[in-house]
Amino acid sequence: MNAYASMRGAALGTLCDLRSDTVTTPCKGMRAAMAAAEVGDDVYGEDPTVTRLEDHLAQMMGKEAGVFFPTGTQSNLAALLAHCGRGDEILVGERQHIRTSEAAGASVLGGIALWPLAQGADGILTAEAVRSAIKADDPHYPVTRLLCLENTLGGHAIALDAIQTAAQAARQAGLAVHLDGARFFNATTALACAPEMLAAPFDTLSICLSKGLGAPVGSVLVGDRDRLAKARRWRKMLGGAMRQSGVMAAAGLYALEHIVSRLADDHARAARLAHALCDTGARARVETNMVFLTLPEAQYDALHDHMARNGVQIGGKSPEIRLVLHRDVDDAALEAAISGFQAFFGQPDSGSPASGA
Ligand SMILES: *Cc1c(COP(=O)(O)O)cnc(C)c1O
Repeated sequence: MNAYASMRGAALGTLCDLRSDTVTTPCKGMRAAMAAAEVGDDVYGEDPTVTRLEDHLAQMMGKEAGVFFPTGTQSNLAALLAHCGRGDEILVGERQHIRTSEAAGASVLGGIALWPLAQGADGILTAEAVRSAIKADDPHYPVTRLLCLENTLGGHAIALDAIQTAAQAARQAGLAVHLDGARFFNATTALACAPEMLAAPFDTLSICLSKGLGAPVGSVLVGDRDRLAKARRWRKMLGGAMRQSGVMAAAGLYALEHIVSRLADDHARAARLAHALCDTGARARVETNMVFLTLPEAQYDALHDHMARNGVQIGGKSPEIRLVLHRDVDDAALEAAISGFQAFFGQPDSGSPASGA
């Protein structure tokens, strides 16, 4: 009997946290890399580990330069501020994090308007949707400067050709294009696409190290040298210029070397979970490292409490419950979670009507 199984049902704390891939904690190897990091004052440009991380990611993405940020929110914000000034406008998909979950920072701090574009389940923005949102040169309107995309979006990996189509429509009208690539490597993994190719349509990209990559903090913005110099100035102004931050950059370098290649394991476990849920008659779908479970609103609290009693944490419901696989959920933890779901929804082939169907 493994450790998870022996503790199961004993309510001894969390065995499996499916709320988000941000709950990952640095593993031994990552902590060792952090402890051993060569550091200096990065505001003086003297932290070799930060510089190595910035250069490494820039090179991977086929861009000229990178800047290390404490968070993805700040990295996105500095990018938007580097692209736009007061009275300018950004086109952004309505379901994207920049639009929904960054407290309208670009508007508050930059006087930038955010124009939401309707976005279906697949997250694709058509060339027509982009073109028709670009404002004419008319004093009634803000000046449309930038298109923002996100990949993965709600866990969904958007294919390169769809990205290229939207980016090209923007570029033809003289807009720049930014990617919120918080889970960029989940996208490259799912699409089996080289990072440089998936990055090619963008002027700037922000990549989170603190989601499935398991670093404690950090995001890197990459792009051309001039734009990144502006972003670096904004980072200072936003209070994000850090000193011996090589300790954190070392975690990012470790993640790029050791963890990107195992994101596929998270995707495989997500598929296994979705399959097991569907087998019980529950409604579930999988996207990269995420499973989305739909069940009647009235059942949510019961499921949440039942899973918590089994040591499994699940996230909120809006409108689906998001279950996220990550490196701190191994096969044993996953099987424990699946047993918990099966106890709630009914075993497969048990003959009982599935309550979640
Ligand atoms: C998490 C996330 C961010 C912001 O990252 P923080 O480091 O939490 O500020 C931006 N975009 C997307 C899509 C995210 O998932």
